[in-house]
Amino acid sequence: MAEHILVLGDQLTERVGPLFSAEPDRARVLMIESRELAAGLPHHKQKLMLVFSAMRHFAQTLRERGFDVSYLQAANFATGIREYLDEFPGAELVVMRPTDWGVEREIIDAAVGAGAHVNVVDNELWLTSDAEFDAWAEGRKSLRLEYFYRSVRKARGWLMDGDKPVGGRWNYDAENRQVPGPGHDFPSVAGFEPDALTVEARAQVDATWPDHFGDTRAFAWPVTREQAVQALEDFVEHRLASFGPYEDAMVEGEDVLYHSLLSVPLNLGLLHPREVCERALAHASDPLNGVPLASIEGFIRQVLGWREFMRHIYRIGMPHLREANGLDATRPLPNLYWSGSTRMTCLQRSVDQIARTGHAHHIQRLMVLGNFALVAGVDPRELNDWFLATFVDALDWVVTPNVMGMSQFADLGSFTSKPYAASGKYIDRMSNYCASCAYDVKSVDGDNSCPMNSLYWSFIDRHRERWVANHRMAVIARGWAKRDPEAKARILARAGDVLEKLSDNTL
Ligand code: SF4
Repeated sequence: MAEHILVLGDQLTERVGPLFSAEPDRARVLMIESRELAAGLPHHKQKLMLVFSAMRHFAQTLRERGFDVSYLQAANFATGIREYLDEFPGAELVVMRPTDWGVEREIIDAAVGAGAHVNVVDNELWLTSDAEFDAWAEGRKSLRLEYFYRSVRKARGWLMDGDKPVGGRWNYDAENRQVPGPGHDFPSVAGFEPDALTVEARAQVDATWPDHFGDTRAFAWPVTREQAVQALEDFVEHRLASFGPYEDAMVEGEDVLYHSLLSVPLNLGLLHPREVCERALAHASDPLNGVPLASIEGFIRQVLGWREFMRHIYRIGMPHLREANGLDATRPLPNLYWSGSTRMTCLQRSVDQIARTGHAHHIQRLMVLGNFALVAGVDPRELNDWFLATFVDALDWVVTPNVMGMSQFADLGSFTSKPYAASGKYIDRMSNYCASCAYDVKSVDGDNSCPMNSLYWSFIDRHRERWVANHRMAVIARGWAKRDPEAKARILARAGDVLEKLSDNTL
């Protein structure tokens, strides 16, 4: 009897899962492009191009290997599955467990409704299992990345010296806050010229969803396994060594700096996080390659630590995580998040970069785009949808915990100890944005003062009772309480003025 393997758009791999052991003469493959998913939000056109092109390339590869592939463009998963089961009545579908919440239920309901059965098997595209996380989390009062990361690093022996971390410390964040000076020579990044399948996907996306966010012209993302491996090699060889020191820096005119961009092929399943970590560790282990411990540790922390931690937080936190709004933030998402139209250089450059490329790095996401929404009191659910729509690597499992939890504190700290709120001072320290900005980062209450400054203090003021009770925010909140009432009134008046301009789209 033939196996019927359902391959989802973020599971494009033959290296693990049901396809690993499947034989073309005994297995058929089903792949579904869901129009509902594509149209549900104004997704970046490059994101749709990327997913369609990568899925179509994967289907082509499987066909070349001799598999029969049913590649359906359906209204949604349910109709695709029903269509397939009309052709193969009673077929038992095998699928790796979907990571995004609700997809597994949708698949099972559709198959059961059509009189068939689905065998959901473990998703092997992760480094850590549900059991490993659950055993670590059991009995803990709070779930913190740092301790999860130590536990999983120890278990794998990565960057370990017996039971101790190599170099004697687990964390090198303090070394990783450098900003490149003027004239710094960044390496160029290998992009990928769209081939015929990608060009076809572009034409389809531009014609079908002309009003979606972003622009397709600069598309250079890897869409095949071979390109994904090249992207990995390019990062390891040319950017890994300087990744750590500059990982939090932002530089006008530099989209990539030393970031890996590997979340894109990782989130499609084209790369496995194990091979990414092992390749980086192997390169860093040769002293001739000059990779500082702070760089390799910072990278492993992102892939083994943060990426895995987020998907577990999502797994145990859904569905309420997506609806959380503990700070009662109700401001509609400002139009500038779509248009990029603002005199604030940090926001303007970040939105412009995302529209061109579908990408911005983690500090632009957290400390510019997320921070501004947080201090301005934007509804976190609207911001979550915006992040989900505008980034090429955005999937619900990664966006929702990062935005609702880490960035917007909407869950009131289920896995973080404080909100990531900052004034313009942080952005000025970590970037060269402020130098070309129309606003004055040194001013807090002047007519031309940096909007981040007064909004930051109004955010502290708005939730002052909560922050006084938070051990990491109490000093700031008490300091604010003791300030001269007239100075506070001036700052809050400036914040009101900023919010008015924000509503008028004149900020
Ligand atoms: Fe952003 Fe303020 Fe700096 Fe302008 S001055 S770039 S608004 S932080």
